[in-house]
Amino acid sequence: MKRFENLPLSKFSRFRIGGPAREIIIAENRNEVLEAMEGNFSVFGGGTNVLFPDEGLDKRVIFFQGGEFHVDGEWIISDAGVALEKIIEASLREELAGIENLAGIPGTLGGAIYGNAGAFGSEIGPLVREVEVWKEGRVHRINKPQFGYRDSIFKRQGGIILRAWLKLKRGTGRERKIAEERLRIRARKHPSSQVACAGSFFKNILMPDGRKIPAGRLLEEVGAKGLRVGGAGVFEKHANFIVNTGGATAKDVIRLSEILKERVREKFGITLQEEVIIVEDP
Ligand SMILES: Cc1cc2nc3c(=O)[nH]c(=O)nc-3n(C[C@H](O)[C@H](O)[C@H](O)COP(=O)(O)OP(=O)(O)OC[C@H]3O[C@@H](n4cnc5c(N)ncnc54)[C@H](O)[C@@H]3O)c2cc1C
Repeated sequence: MKRFENLPLSKFSRFRIGGPAREIIIAENRNEVLEAMEGNFSVFGGGTNVLFPDEGLDKRVIFFQGGEFHVDGEWIISDAGVALEKIIEASLREELAGIENLAGIPGTLGGAIYGNAGAFGSEIGPLVREVEVWKEGRVHRINKPQFGYRDSIFKRQGGIILRAWLKLKRGTGRERKIAEERLRIRARKHPSSQVACAGSFFKNILMPDGRKIPAGRLLEEVGAKGLRVGGAGVFEKHANFIVNTGGATAKDVIRLSEILKERVREKFGITLQEEVIIVEDP
């Protein structure tokens, strides 16, 4: 376990934004997380989907990054702190199918379950058969938790995800190729790992018939690309990414997102919802 006092959260966020936390703990396995959960605290994973406040957080902030996992037949049993990338690599190695479309999503398994991470028509949710969760001082298991579009019962009802049981399928031999193709598409359209951002800023629009309208398309049509507020700007290759071009504050990002929302509301009558988790100190 690593412990830091008064370090800025920007150092632990992919957006590279955020003021100091009273205390930051990097928990490298499930037991360290359980040990660290004391007093007023919040738990994050890789910090790839969050916008931390400029004022920082007056609490203990735990980043669950690391842990153990193993593959047992078609099952993957993993601590929530394990990088999703590692789990995908192991399942490709074992010739399992079901998770290959998620290749390239940064962050941890815990963060992916919390937000039901997904890409290219797949989501992590349907693979998740059981979750070990800490809630109100008690560790228990949830069988087949419910998920929605970028939504989970953990997001709605709280709880710290400690471990999960994923059920995959036998592969067809094409999974590695699919994963590689997904990575190629990402390399072309998405910000590289050098760019400070938190993934798609807004959710796509879910139509009543189940279709999704990409938020990026609406944003493009309102001239989002190239817009800037302070150090925050809209990524030039994909209008649904707000990036920190250097020295952006959370306020810059929020202001820019408000301008984008206003433009989309005016032109299309649609109110975009944030996919990035805006963290506040209540
Ligand atoms: C370049 C880029 C591309 C991306 N592409 C995609 C994509 O294609 N699809 C997609 O869905 N996302 C995408 N993302 C967003 C992000 O990577 C995912 O949402 C990822 O699953 C977040 O994981 P994390 O560990 O970084 O979570 P964090 O950012 O650390 O946390 C996100 C939320 O999850 C909660 N959380 C984290 N761990 C736990 C836990 N153990 N227990 C309870 N709550 C927890 C936190 O409290 C927080 O509210 C992208 C991000 C970037 C930067």
